[in-house]
Amino acid sequence: MSKGLVLVTGVTGFVGTAVALAYFEAGYTVRGTCRSQSKAEEWISLFPQYKSKFEYAIVEDIAVPGCFDEAVKGVEIIAHTASPFTYDIKDNEKDLLLPAIAGTHNLLSATSLSPTLKRIVLTSSFASVFDFATFPAMGKTYTDDVWNPATYEEAKTHAHPGYVYCASKVLAERTFWEWIERERPGWEGSVVCPPNIYGPPRQPLSSLSSLNTSTKDVWNIMSGAYKEGLPPTAMPAFVDVRDVALAHVRATEREEAKGQRYLLIGGVYTNEEIASIIAQSHPELNDRLPKVDDASKVNHDLLYDSSKAQEQLGIQFIPLEKCIRDTADRLVQIEKDLKH
Ligand code: NAP
Repeated sequence: MSKGLVLVTGVTGFVGTAVALAYFEAGYTVRGTCRSQSKAEEWISLFPQYKSKFEYAIVEDIAVPGCFDEAVKGVEIIAHTASPFTYDIKDNEKDLLLPAIAGTHNLLSATSLSPTLKRIVLTSSFASVFDFATFPAMGKTYTDDVWNPATYEEAKTHAHPGYVYCASKVLAERTFWEWIERERPGWEGSVVCPPNIYGPPRQPLSSLSSLNTSTKDVWNIMSGAYKEGLPPTAMPAFVDVRDVALAHVRATEREEAKGQRYLLIGGVYTNEEIASIIAQSHPELNDRLPKVDDASKVNHDLLYDSSKAQEQLGIQFIPLEKCIRDTADRLVQIEKDLKH
């Protein structure tokens, strides 16, 4: 028997796919939002074992008012993962800010059409926590209570796409909490704030160049793109996508998660460590990998506290080595499959 119907927005994405799989595994039925029928059919064809537990709703653009009105009907849980994660932008508002913020607003506006709704978990980000201008702030501990001070006014014209992405996440998250505060809905909300998410990508892919932004970090290291030298590690914190997915399920099931925000950092890392894990687990890739003398010498100076997620959601974070090894295994397999 199904435990209930969960709406996963952006089910075709890297995180959305993992989140949907975690809900299936926990015994739920999933309705996924997809931009088109063909994307929905391609997605479920990868998971035939869950075909009878899957339905879909077409949401072509989350920024369009009313777009979620049909999708929310009859659901008990919503995991809102859909939001653009890209640095390849032409228009700060259209490409990042509006889909993130209006997308969240449109989902919240639709919830009055779903009296069965009990819980929503919003996929926010560590981008909603740290201040882009001062990151990483020396001696500062990042916790569930720290907020990125970015404003819409600045983000609208800011020249750095990283700033704009971070602003899109914090402004969407503020939209979520302010709605709950103002409307006092009959459902409860929780938020998860993961940093760079790695781990095996399970979403449909037509090419390795269409990989999601965070998985590309790992692919670039193993594909030979950085053979002559690694770039600096811009964001030295990671979490495995399977932990992020489990955190969504637990945040919608546990009493103590009501109204909570969870920083979801699995550990710190450097690009050198990623390269040396891949060199050990996949020696056949060595001629593509950059030379790393001693990854263990690299300092980690990011201080954080993710203990609330560990204690309240029972997440025991997957360590970097397993996360990267499994990511590399999957990417090697995808590369082989795409050649055939
Ligand atoms: P992704 O693979 O690109 O997934 C994004 C999903 O959102 C896709 O299904 C995409 O659909 C959908 N989407 C984006 N804009 C849309 C629009 N305007 N209308 C309809 N659908 C739209 O990226 P991801 O890494 O899984 O990110 C998912 C969520 O996790 C985002 O909220 C992101 O901010 C958050 N997050 C990600 C990371 C990370 O490292 N990956 C870290 C922290 C937080 P199409 O593919 O059809 O465009």
